[in-house]
Amino acid sequence: MSRIYLIVAEQREGKIRQVTLEALQAAASSAADGDRMTAVLIGSGLDSMANELSAYPLSEIHLIEHAGLQYYNPESYTAALLPVIENIRPDAVFLGHTALGRDLAPALGAKLQAGQLSDVITLTGTGEDTVFTRAIFAGKAFEKKRFNGYPWVVTVRPNNFPALPPSSSPQPAQIVKADYAPSSSLRTIVQDVVRQTGGKIDLTEAKIVVSGGRGVKSRDGFKPLEELASVLNGAVGASRGACDAGYCDYALQIGQTGKVVTPEIYIACGISGAIQHLAGMSQSRVIVAINKDPEAPIFKVADYGIVGDLFEVVPLLTEEFRKVLG
Ligand code: FAD
Repeated sequence: MSRIYLIVAEQREGKIRQVTLEALQAAASSAADGDRMTAVLIGSGLDSMANELSAYPLSEIHLIEHAGLQYYNPESYTAALLPVIENIRPDAVFLGHTALGRDLAPALGAKLQAGQLSDVITLTGTGEDTVFTRAIFAGKAFEKKRFNGYPWVVTVRPNNFPALPPSSSPQPAQIVKADYAPSSSLRTIVQDVVRQTGGKIDLTEAKIVVSGGRGVKSRDGFKPLEELASVLNGAVGASRGACDAGYCDYALQIGQTGKVVTPEIYIACGISGAIQHLAGMSQSRVIVAINKDPEAPIFKVADYGIVGDLFEVVPLLTEEFRKVLG
């Protein structure tokens, strides 16, 4: 029996987010021959993004467009998505494990009476034999799970699946426009979203993260890290220690109660390596630690360790990378 996979596409500032293409790849890996891949895009001003998505092997792209959907609001997004999803009757819904996906997936799972798995990092097998792997206990162990029947709602951790490449000979996807009338009984209305880290690379999608801890000592202490991140085209992150001390915004916090990142390179500067911090970064491909304490626990998870003062080491690294990368 042919199954229907639906990807809830996420966009930011007029562009399809990378994690959506990764969720597409995850769904495509689980799909068997003959299964149908579809996507739903929600927001306002969606035409160019629908075009962008149509380069991928999707049979339909459902658009839910309304000025009232410009900003994510769990109530309005759930209300807008449910009728469309009930109409498509997908067997599996895939989303990115982003702020939106983490919030929306359990709501959809509950409303659709679906099995729900969050923060999947790999999968094997296809169809009902798909086995999903998730990190548990702050990354100290992995669990493998499968669903007992359909439907499913799955979120995939950013940077863990390769992005699905565009189709070489795309059959143009059918664009289906869905109606949405905002309810007057919404209990919350998002009026505006003010970005505090304008123009920077999204931390959860960055290939390189340069992260600072309490060892950075002040707001100004983050400047050398920002410079290194800029030379490497990466993003700046932080430990909760640095956020609590007021050296940076909580939007940068990585860890159990912050963001989970899995970049190709994670450079931890002046971070001790508490278990709650490791929960947010220990799955990074290569971990570099810079700490003046040779006994700091971060060195236990690091692939490369530099024992030294970050205020000496980081500018030297920046200088060398600048020479190499131009
Ligand atoms: P510290 O532990 O103080 O480490 C600072 C490090 O900097 C030291 O290792 C020191 O040797 C080094 N250093 C100092 N000066 C220099 C220098 N000049 N050059 C090089 N190295 C230097 N933490 C998180 O990060 N994320 C979370 O999401 C999170 N969630 C939590 C949830 C709960 C429920 C609890 C209880 C705690 C949580 N924490 C979290 C806090 C966590 O336990 C640690 O307190 C925190 O990670 C410590 O931050 P830090 O490594 O920056 O600071």
